[in-house]
Amino acid sequence: MKTSTIIRNPLLAAERGTVYKPRGNRLVFALAFPNTYHVGMSSLGFQMVYRLLNELPDVVCERVFLPDPEERERVANSRLGLTTIESNIPLRDVDVLGFSVYFELDYANVAAILRLAGLPPLARDRNEEHPLVVAGGPAMSINPEPLAEFVDVVAVGDGEELVPEMMARILELGSSRAGEVIDRGEMLKALAQVPGLYVPSLYRFEYDDEGRVAEIKALNGAPLPVKKRVTLDLGKYDVSSAIVTPNTEFGGMFLTEIARGCARGCRFCFAGYGYRPVRYRKTEEVHPLNAAKRGEPSKAVLEAGRVGLVGSSLSDNPWCPEIAAAFAELGLEVNVSSVRAETAKEELMQALGKGTQRTLTLAPEAATDRLRRVIKKPLKDEHLHRAIAAAVANGVTGIKLYFMIGLPTETEEDVEAICELCRSIMKEHGAKSGPGIRTLTVSVSPLVPKPFTPFQWHPMESRSALENKKRILESGLKNLRGVKLVVESVRLSELQALLARGDRRLGAVLLDVADSGGGWKSALRQHGVDLEHHLRRERGRDETFPWDVLDLGLNREMLWREYQLALRGLLTQNSQEPPAADDPKWMESSPELANSSKGTARNAQG
Ligand code: SF4
Repeated sequence: MKTSTIIRNPLLAAERGTVYKPRGNRLVFALAFPNTYHVGMSSLGFQMVYRLLNELPDVVCERVFLPDPEERERVANSRLGLTTIESNIPLRDVDVLGFSVYFELDYANVAAILRLAGLPPLARDRNEEHPLVVAGGPAMSINPEPLAEFVDVVAVGDGEELVPEMMARILELGSSRAGEVIDRGEMLKALAQVPGLYVPSLYRFEYDDEGRVAEIKALNGAPLPVKKRVTLDLGKYDVSSAIVTPNTEFGGMFLTEIARGCARGCRFCFAGYGYRPVRYRKTEEVHPLNAAKRGEPSKAVLEAGRVGLVGSSLSDNPWCPEIAAAFAELGLEVNVSSVRAETAKEELMQALGKGTQRTLTLAPEAATDRLRRVIKKPLKDEHLHRAIAAAVANGVTGIKLYFMIGLPTETEEDVEAICELCRSIMKEHGAKSGPGIRTLTVSVSPLVPKPFTPFQWHPMESRSALENKKRILESGLKNLRGVKLVVESVRLSELQALLARGDRRLGAVLLDVADSGGGWKSALRQHGVDLEHHLRRERGRDETFPWDVLDLGLNREMLWREYQLALRGLLTQNSQEPPAADDPKWMESSPELANSSKGTARNAQG
């Protein structure tokens, strides 16, 4: 069975690290990524949950992905419906179906997977005869409400401790196919008491005449708000690739996390707020390095030959250069996703230079000092030039820069400054006859205001203004040799913004989109969704938001203050320097997080 599965499925044949565990009496967990194999397997969080679940002796976890569009009809009409990739278990036969959700635009794919599995997509139409449907992943900690009608349980926050606890509780309670059968309602009530688990059916949302949330009510003793879970001692857990495969965004690279959260608090960025407290891994907390030091280097790492360091703003981690150098000493090529221009140190660039990474990604997001103050990303052009010069000196030939348009108070001059900055970079660092930049990729996205950031109140910019700014960029960069401009679709950004701040009434739209294979326009029209109301209305300081059902440990007053400072183009005091990981300024809201920051301080002193 095992061998024939491998031979039949070329994706599995290309993997190293796949777990094949006999089902026996184990609870079967289908871990679903609501996008393709390629996208899902590129996610370290998805891989971490796969590892965590398969480490549990009473659980077997197999994966499932959204089939390619041309495959979907065949799957929908097949006898088994959608199945897991390891041993073709039909999803309707598993005990728990868990979604790892990263992107708002994948929400309709959750409904599509439930349909392809032959399961009722809405939670209220399922019972203990059906798998328990769980969702986790970053998008579910930002705002799970658009998926509230589809899922039974949402895991909020870090998974290292929450996932095993949730599984222990499910095993203890008994699920429909493992052990004693208990009523679905009873199980949900019990799971709602596990810290970090949110059971949407136990909350009632009331709306006012304007369609805004008027009140959120918790039923049957469910907690309100639901506090996110935080893994304080990250060093205890190995967050590295469980499976290495060439069929991902990163080719066959082995990924390992060295930082979580970011102390910078850029005002548009969820990672700067929602993942607090910031945790940096020290060199001795990087598990694959420890294994190598013990003389037992992981085969997966050595065979991969390349290691990618993962984390938000990872060059802020003081141990980053040492970690990069240690991997380089093992003969591995070291790659990083994106570095902060002000903290990209020479040692890091040297370690990168020893590998074959020839593209460096930097994210200035705005090109004028004024707008950088608005978003609280106060780097200077000289930081960018210095980082690029160091990268070029170490063999980098491609630079990728991320920018946003539609930022609060942004003018056309701010957008023109992006073109000017690119011109100056190519002039100073462009390859003439010797080393230098051959390709400068300029990647631009419209601002999508995100929950739990200071910009959660901000209206999205009008479509016409965004299209106009796109044209300014196209004309300003068109004759610049070596520069490639990529602008995110305004229409898709609008949908993303709708889902990012939407509520559970969007469930009907998502179901229609899943059933029609992507007809957003007609689904929105049919359900009377007024995009302007959702995207562009002014939100009041005290408006209740759908995501207020969650508590990420942030002080709403602090977020509002930051928003007001942004509108006035002011920085928070001291934001020129990266704040210390345990700086109470970032944790002012929550005693729980203030305590947890002590863990980070301990790490920092170590
Ligand atoms: S530095 Fe990067 S990760 Fe950190 S808050 Fe700013 S944008 Fe987010």
